Amino acid sequence: MSLNPTRRRFVMLAPFAGMTALAACSRPEPPTPAQMPVPTPLPMPVTPSSPTAQEPTTAPAPTTANLPIVDAQEAKALSFGYVAIASNADKARFPMFVAGSACSNCALYQGAAGETHGPCAIFIGQRVASAGWCSAWAKKA
Ligand code: SF4
Repeated sequence: MSLNPTRRRFVMLAPFAGMTALAACSRPEPPTPAQMPVPTPLPMPVTPSSPTAQEPTTAPAPTTANLPIVDAQEAKALSFGYVAIASNADKARFPMFVAGSACSNCALYQGAAGETHGPCAIFIGQRVASAGWCSAWAKKA
């Protein structure tokens, strides 16, 4: 039995045509805008909190007012003969003591006039009494 080439071709292609038609019918319709999934918002980047009324926007200005006061009994103070009241200086040990000399009129004193204590170039990071004295005293110009 011989088949017509056209018929043979039809017989060979018919299953594929059916599968194609079935695939076309089973393809889902594209979703309408109402059926589109709602995208979830991306998380917001974490940023530092904005300054509030309680938080200063800048660091406080450095101050020497809260520096510790030199203890006359600490080793460095003892070696320099530091005393908190100049008239209590050991004049026998430091014969160069000049009457009227004090930290307040020393060239190394960095405190403001009228302050009871202020920084000193010898005792860095601490404050000395303006009425104090030590053997490094040098007349303020
Ligand atoms: S160096 Fe001057 S300011 Fe400093 S402790 Fe001595 S006397 Fe006072």
